[in-house]
Amino acid sequence: MPNPKRRHSNSRTRKRRTHYKASLPPLGECPNCKEPKLLHRACPHCGYYNGRTVLIPKETK
Ligand SMILES: [Zn+2]
Repeated sequence: MPNPKRRHSNSRTRKRRTHYKASLPPLGECPNCKEPKLLHRACPHCGYYNGRTVLIPKETK
């Protein structure tokens, strides 16, 4: 099997990995209050999920 002859420097590895970036999580819109929220999660703004209120939202500022 072919094998690398020399180990890559840390710099070379890091330069390659500059192209790897974390992407934003998918955001949806709350059907109740229209605020952006994470998909498959209760809305942090109004506590609404799947047609009902599942948690008490924190007091609005
Ligand atoms: Zn909401």
